[in-house]
Amino acid sequence: MLGKYGHEADKLVYTFTDRGDRQVGLRYDQTVPLARVLSQHQHQLLPHFRRYQIQNVFRADKPQKGRFREFTQCDLDIIGSSHPVADAEILAATFTAFKALKFPQTVFHLNDRQGLIDTLSPFATAGTDVFSIIQTLDKLDKLGQERVLAELTGKGIQPEAASALLSTINGLRPSDALNHLISLAVSLGVPAESLIFTPTLARGLDYYTGMIFEVSVPGYETGALGGGGRYDRLIGELGGPDLPAVGVGLGFDRILEAAEQLNLIPGTSDSVLVLVTLFDSTTTPQSLETAKSLRQAGIPTEVFPNLDTLSKQLAFASKKHIPFVIIIGEEELGANQLTLKTMATGEQEHLSLSQALSKLSKRVPAAPVQ
Ligand code: AMP
Repeated sequence: MLGKYGHEADKLVYTFTDRGDRQVGLRYDQTVPLARVLSQHQHQLLPHFRRYQIQNVFRADKPQKGRFREFTQCDLDIIGSSHPVADAEILAATFTAFKALKFPQTVFHLNDRQGLIDTLSPFATAGTDVFSIIQTLDKLDKLGQERVLAELTGKGIQPEAASALLSTINGLRPSDALNHLISLAVSLGVPAESLIFTPTLARGLDYYTGMIFEVSVPGYETGALGGGGRYDRLIGELGGPDLPAVGVGLGFDRILEAAEQLNLIPGTSDSVLVLVTLFDSTTTPQSLETAKSLRQAGIPTEVFPNLDTLSKQLAFASKKHIPFVIIIGEEELGANQLTLKTMATGEQEHLSLSQALSKLSKRVPAAPVQ
């Protein structure tokens, strides 16, 4: 695992010696493991292979807001194509995912890793190679310009050269290749204003070879919600076939945090449409049968899990913002009916089960976008 991510990221790989004195490491991301799987199964795969994978990863980082030691990443990758359409597909799929989650705006900061390497190479010194410079530049967001300059000079780059380096980077224009890729992504439905050329974007990992990007949403400033790029040599370097690849890793936990912050997640109680109350042990089976029928009809239903006074059960529904309550007492049981109470108005209706089902079915919110 070590030696593929680069010096800075290698420090974040969890390694330890197990009880059998073996050196082991925990999964840092899903790209290096994917490359390993491709090496192993290269002969079974079609020339173009797409995959997604959702799994936990581990980083020996200092935990803080939006930064955990264990978190979930959702990866998408296309292997076997070096055409920019594959890059554009990854951007479009990422955009579609954020749109489906109802984020009003998604922003992609894009850069060209090869362009960055070419621009920075003249600034490399015997003691500080271009990757080391990129790893420092990657901290611009976190540290700001002054501290990045200090780190560069600490690495042995002359102060004037360090300043020249930053202003050269800031003055770069997007390459033709990057402009072409951006136009392909626009054809696939990503709004042009979402695709922002960001010459200082570095991405810390050493294995990127072409386009690199990070995704963020306005209103959530803790950090990027995802990042990715093209890594054409990694699979070969891991002993596999020399296959080009491009992909994205989305940070599930941060996406959740951002969605919560932007109020995109309805409260769990909001999704319950009906509370079925319990009256007494004689009527309980009928209440439970009713709950079963409601659930079978796709109506989100909660059963009050205790025998308590009706007023307490109604207060519970009100506190949880459950819009409807079903009451089945002895009277309802005898008439083979139920009472449906609309909490907002207090209105009570005596209905048959099928009448209640048809009324409530109309109130079920549409299924989320798949
Ligand atoms: P990376 O390839 O390291 O940029 O990771 C991809 C995405 O995973 C980032 O854009 C974040 O959304 C998320 N991520 C990275 N590190 C952490 C962390 N320590 N805790 C939570 N999410 C993280």
